[in-house]
Amino acid sequence: MIQITMPLNFLGTVYREIRQALVDMGQMFDLLEQPAEVSDKPNAKPLAVAGGTVRLRDVYFGYDPERPILKGVSLEVPAGQTVAIVGSSGSGKSTIGRLLFRFYDVQGGAVQIDGQDLRDVTQTSLHDAIGVVPQDTVLFNDTIGYNIAYGRDGATQADVEKAAKDAQIHDFIVSLPQGYDTTVGERGLKLSGGEKQRVGIARTLLKNPPILLLDEATSALDTETEQDIQGALARAGQGRTVITIAHRLSTIADADRIIVLEDGQITEEGSHTDLLDRKGRYWSLWQRQASERNEAA
Ligand code: ADP
Ligand code: MG
Repeated sequence: MIQITMPLNFLGTVYREIRQALVDMGQMFDLLEQPAEVSDKPNAKPLAVAGGTVRLRDVYFGYDPERPILKGVSLEVPAGQTVAIVGSSGSGKSTIGRLLFRFYDVQGGAVQIDGQDLRDVTQTSLHDAIGVVPQDTVLFNDTIGYNIAYGRDGATQADVEKAAKDAQIHDFIVSLPQGYDTTVGERGLKLSGGEKQRVGIARTLLKNPPILLLDEATSALDTETEQDIQGALARAGQGRTVITIAHRLSTIADADRIIVLEDGQITEEGSHTDLLDRKGRYWSLWQRQASERNEAA
């Protein structure tokens, strides 16, 4: 009997581990919730990053071609700059992120990085070039050190600690009795939303991508925690091209340029002060959030 039940138990454990890993992977890429529907061209080349300029040229896209989501979106994020995308829920902001990751191909127009059409480059090289901090960082049921080291193959403990320091989570980690060996996730220590986001930022810093995509990276946090991790995010953005999708406008007022997306089209763009002067959609969103901030205060 033992000879039969032992392997079965073992297989059961392996199966559960694999299933959990797949669930974790799926959740981690919440932004990228769909399986890849694209494949490399036979002669696809690795993306050659020279600064990381992102350009959308007259992009048309719908998950269902009958229902367009992006309707002629053109935007450029120059290398090293930060562009924020704001707009109502459902306006297509996260869709832009998914197209940048080439989870789908555009139906019209093109997405380019440093002049290379995403359809001409290998997906591995594209994914290496982009770091994502989603709304909720999902942790593996493993040590906190592993959860950060996952950002880069072959990362040393020193690399992990440097990333954790830059993400302002190192001091918290070393205050735990088991330090970097503390198990986190569903079956371990439950981290707060702000702590999880810092782990996610550390993981992304370790990956060291030229392009950073923040999709409502702080919108699941309370305002105070959000302010705490803004510093870590600002540091993460230094020397990179950053696309930040924001719900709370107070977090993106410093962006080089702000894009207002409504119903799949860009309706306004400019700096924070430009857009306030225009007294349009951005201005009214800002007024509304300012009065909410005052009520909360
Ligand atoms: P935002 O991030 O601005 O809130 P999204 O880009 O996530 O908006 O979604 C834009 C629109 O596309 C929404 O109407 C949403 O319901 C739809 N949508 C998003 N993902 C999918 C999907 N995988 N399949 C079909 N429709 C989707
Ligand atoms: Mg979204």
